Amino acid sequence: MTSQRSVLLLTPGPLTTSASTKSAMLRDWGSRDPDFIALTAAIRRRLVDIAGVTRTHVAVPLQGSGTFAIEATLGTLTPPAARVLVLANGAYGRRMTLILQRIGRQPVMVESAEDTPDDIDALADTLAGNPTISHVAAVHCETTSGILNPMDAIAAITRQHGRRLIIDAMSSFGALPIDSADGEAFDALVASSNKCLEGVPGLAFAIVREDALSACAGHAPSLALDLHDQWRGFERDGQWRFTPPTHVVAAFAAALDEHAAEGGVIGRGLRYRENCRVLVREMRSLGFETFLPDALQAPIIVTFRMPADERFEFGEFYTRLSERGFVIYPGKLTEVESFRVGCIGRLAASDMVAAGEAIAAVCAEMGVITLAPASDG
Ligand SMILES: *Cc1c(COP(=O)(O)O)cnc(C)c1O
Repeated sequence: MTSQRSVLLLTPGPLTTSASTKSAMLRDWGSRDPDFIALTAAIRRRLVDIAGVTRTHVAVPLQGSGTFAIEATLGTLTPPAARVLVLANGAYGRRMTLILQRIGRQPVMVESAEDTPDDIDALADTLAGNPTISHVAAVHCETTSGILNPMDAIAAITRQHGRRLIIDAMSSFGALPIDSADGEAFDALVASSNKCLEGVPGLAFAIVREDALSACAGHAPSLALDLHDQWRGFERDGQWRFTPPTHVVAAFAAALDEHAAEGGVIGRGLRYRENCRVLVREMRSLGFETFLPDALQAPIIVTFRMPADERFEFGEFYTRLSERGFVIYPGKLTEVESFRVGCIGRLAASDMVAAGEAIAAVCAEMGVITLAPASDG
């Protein structure tokens, strides 16, 4: 047996999960077991509930990580050779562009700097000038930096121009609301089990307008990632098309119970906001600087600038911190040296205080004196 020492994951996922979510996996289920079919159906209902689109949309779970569902959704909802406007201000927006290229769609990327929200004026201009663009794809919280994009405005502009919106809400769904505009805001919203819903990793899902999805037979360039066929499978007999991640589904049901008990999207968002506030307060009191101004920061993951002090070696910092039970994450920005600390998962403000203390102790051990970044690095 390996060590059972538990660590707190202050990362963008996989995340720290509760004991009851983990213990929901201590039973085997057959894929045709009526209890398991009921569990899947319940999860599908609860996801459309959380999104506030019960009348118009269906939830389609899919085996795999979040990217699998992004690729399935882009490939299924857009017809071959479709032109798709992608709003990008980080790695996940750029990844949607890569996926679209790979599956033979035509992405039109509207890119902003990583510290700047999606450009809604450029969105409106590009849609107005390009009537052949059929869809817009956008990231709600761009986890690369932790920035919150103006999704309600993006949805309104996309709708005014008569185009269809696909949202990567991977790192926000369940904690940060999106106005569903009575089901009119988006054709699809994609997320996964192990971000703000605090399940274990292994399944992702799209919440899709039923009338849009039913018109998409034959679009997908992939068999396994065909969201339309996956949906038809659930509608036909309640079963997954291929081997379901049964234990992950059971854990997800338990995690959704906890989400409801915490007060749903509002309750979860409040806890994450408090985690984020305490984390930033503790880190600033040590001398660290955030990459983003507070007004643009989503309460999901915080990017800190790398201290200029050359005794601050990130690999050593990371290892020493994980030995103390806190796993953080490297930076992913293209221009600025940084690292990230997550606020999501089964974490409380007291964990953020403890993380701040551990970070202070590790910096002292490493002999780092000043934690400020190089002046405007
Ligand atoms: C985590 C994440 C994804 C998907 O990542 P996987 O590693 O495939 O689960 C996609 N978009 C955003 C914004 C994310 O935070």
